[in-house]
Formats: sequence, C-alpha cells, structure tokens
Amino acid sequence: MTALASFNVRSSKQSEWIDISSEVHKAVAESGVKEGIAVVFVPHTTASVTVNENADPDVPGDLRLALDLISPDRGEFRHGEGNSAAHVKTSLISPSLTLIVAGGKLLLGTWQGILFTEHDGPRTRKVHVRTMGE
Ligand code: ZN
Repeated sequence: MTALASFNVRSSKQSEWIDISSEVHKAVAESGVKEGIAVVFVPHTTASVTVNENADPDVPGDLRLALDLISPDRGEFRHGEGNSAAHVKTSLISPSLTLIVAGGKLLLGTWQGILFTEHDGPRTRKVHVRTMGE
C-alpha cells in the first residue's frame, strides 16, 4: 500500500522553523498504512526538514541561531541570487526525512516534532509525504 499527500507551508520570515507534525501525522493516518515508512520531502533548494524538540520554542530558535553562525552571508559567495547562505543551510539539514510508521502512527519520541525549516522566506512552500507499507 502506498499513498502520496502534499500540503503547503507559508513562512512569514526570512528564517523560520515551522512545526508540521500535525500535517504529517494526518497524511500518515489518511494513507491507511499501519506498518511501514513515511518519507517527508521538501522540493525546494532553500528550505529543509528535520526532527527535533517542538515543546520548547527556544530550541528551534537556538538551532536557527547556530545555523546563522555556521553559515553566515559571505562576500566570497558567487551565486548571483544572493542567497547562498540559505542554500548551505538547506544542504546541512536535508530536504527529506524517513520516519517509521508503527500501529498506524509515526514512531517519534515524546519531545520530537517534525520541523519545516525556511531559510529564504517569506514564501509559500510545498511538502510531500509518501507513506508506504501495509
Ligand atoms: Zn539561490
């Protein structure tokens, strides 16, 4: 059994981490898959997706701060669009996740959430969820 679901995410800042856990949980529940995997994919080059703590909003804030320190804007960047720091952050994090589906639900830790990570907003972005299994 396999199912594909897609939804939009609207970022409102240049750099923003948005909890998309409920949207991904919904996609998995509607897929009908009880045991398998879910692939979450962001089809963009300046946005990504990760799993981290979603209980304390200071955690995504601190992660954003750390990423800004790791990949600041640099005068040496040659990409004409001027958003190379955002491209670097996207590759550091990853455009996709593979998650375990067990008992019809995502197998995540108590404090884990699925976070869409915008690096060059504000924009309307797409997220795809492919759920596979039985
Ligand atoms: Zn670019």
